[in-house]
Amino acid sequence: MVRERTLVVSCKQVSELLSQARERRLTLAERVTLRIHLVLCEGCRNFRVQLGVLHEAVRRFVDRGRGVD
Ligand SMILES: [Zn+2]
Repeated sequence: MVRERTLVVSCKQVSELLSQARERRLTLAERVTLRIHLVLCEGCRNFRVQLGVLHEAVRRFVDRGRGVD
């Protein structure tokens, strides 16, 4: 039952994991969980893309503010 619970996570949990993946290294179990969910869930795939675009935009903005070339 524990195994099933870790494999089938909610979209909310996935969005949290995707955010955390930018701040820390996910465990193998977390990465597998994410991957399986993303295969099954188009909504979270779209969210991941949007998160990446947002992160990139923020990074560029911060870099420009620091005067980094
Ligand atoms: Zn989802």
